[in-house]
Amino acid sequence: MGLYAFDPAYQYAQQLDKEDELASFRDEFYVKEDTIYLDGNSLGLLSKRAETSLLNILDSWKQYGIDGWTKGKYPWFYLSERLGDLIAPFIGADAGEVFVSGSTTVNLHQLVATFYEPKGTKTKILADELTFPTDIYALQSQLKLKGYDPDEYLIQVKSRDGRTLNEEDIISAMTEDIALIVLPSVLYRSGQILDMKRLAEEAHQRGILIGFDLCHSIGSIPHYVNEWDVDFAFWCNYKYLNGGPGSVAGLYVNKKHFHRTPGLTGWFSSHKDKQFDMEHHLTPAEDAGAYQMGTPHILSLAPLIGSLEIFKEAGLERLRQKSLKMTQYMMDLISHELKDMGFTIANPIEDDKRTGHIYLEHQEAARICKALKENNVIPDFRAPNGIRLAPVPLYNTFQEIWNTVQILKKIMIEGQYKKFENNRDVVA
Ligand SMILES: *Cc1c(COP(=O)(O)O)cnc(C)c1O
Repeated sequence: MGLYAFDPAYQYAQQLDKEDELASFRDEFYVKEDTIYLDGNSLGLLSKRAETSLLNILDSWKQYGIDGWTKGKYPWFYLSERLGDLIAPFIGADAGEVFVSGSTTVNLHQLVATFYEPKGTKTKILADELTFPTDIYALQSQLKLKGYDPDEYLIQVKSRDGRTLNEEDIISAMTEDIALIVLPSVLYRSGQILDMKRLAEEAHQRGILIGFDLCHSIGSIPHYVNEWDVDFAFWCNYKYLNGGPGSVAGLYVNKKHFHRTPGLTGWFSSHKDKQFDMEHHLTPAEDAGAYQMGTPHILSLAPLIGSLEIFKEAGLERLRQKSLKMTQYMMDLISHELKDMGFTIANPIEDDKRTGHIYLEHQEAARICKALKENNVIPDFRAPNGIRLAPVPLYNTFQEIWNTVQILKKIMIEGQYKKFENNRDVVA
């Protein structure tokens, strides 16, 4: 990939696209030519390969009926394990430590049910005040199930600026009474990447277990969970990983914890060779497979097979390099073109702190988003005043970034947003 030296001219966007060695991956996706899709961090687009793998699975149902569990190109009985092994390198885990099963929220419940073991005065759970709401709801209900009042036993680290977290503040909150820590790898609004290695180190020095929600980082940045000694992690596969709406989610358990019995078990927690013995005594799988519960949602696993192939060819490190260049370019254009229009770039600007999206704050954010949609640019709005714009390195282009900023400029100059109400629609 060529060097980057900002130039606001359209020709520069064309040049960046020409130099882009990942450009051909755009053809793998169903991209609408008249639309600029910048929402791949909420729901990634469908690829042709994901479509094919879904059709393959449907075909195995057609061909084999019940025998599809063990026959065909992708026998269903082993699919969660197989996909887990394919995703493991995305987070720096080993085969057997990763599973594709359940949903983000269900997996979080499973992991907290397993790893939250209040003892003596070590009883509290540490989270933060900026995380995605489902994580907080899950932690609150897990506390209640164990007989603890969430108002007292769930500690949420405060943000100093309402956008980001300071690792020092998180570490200071790791007090004697904390039993478990659950944090996002990346904050879903500002896109800030937390220093997972440092936080895991500090937690372990204090005898606290720590897990991360990787929803906003999986498929966007490389991770090294084993090297960082993270205890567990969970994520969805429908954002950057393009697994489709309601795609089955992921779960990681560090192999040092394989001796534990999962908090929530079902017959799919069984050792594969024992499952169909149908005994009432569970013999759990010896790896993270034990964290599954019931029959996997095969049709919602299927698109991932094709999608992960694309990632393997493109390479996560190369995708990250292109993503950094795209977000840098977008920030440079915004600073250059949208001066004095009330926008604040509210994501961290450092390369090692920002992920795949730009977060713009503006008082009129909700209606600016509506105006963008009317101009065929798909952003997403995050209440109360945020606009997330995610140029995805697999299928967005530098020219789309240039066009988006020009459209934004026009919307502001012409006051196009004023014809909409400044509130959100049902979804985003
Ligand atoms: C998208 C997202 C979720 C979604 O959870 P589901 O169970 O898949 O609905 C959870 N946490 C974070 C941080 C997210 O970004």
